[in-house]
Amino acid sequence: MAKTPSDAKDAKFVKIQCPDCNNQQILFMKCATKVPCQACGSTLATPTGGKCVLNGQIVEVVE
Ligand SMILES: [Zn+2]
Repeated sequence: MAKTPSDAKDAKFVKIQCPDCNNQQILFMKCATKVPCQACGSTLATPTGGKCVLNGQIVEVVE
């Protein structure tokens, strides 16, 4: 069963799906720099000083 973003609010790592190319990759929720998609380079997460803002859909909470 898929987790919702609210389930991930305390997660450290999540698997996110790129909205542009549907590539899935794991990223750290408290990223310090922008996280690009490994496949197309689209920005998947933007740091805000604390938890980063995700641009894609969370497909899995890793931890
Ligand atoms: Zn992509």
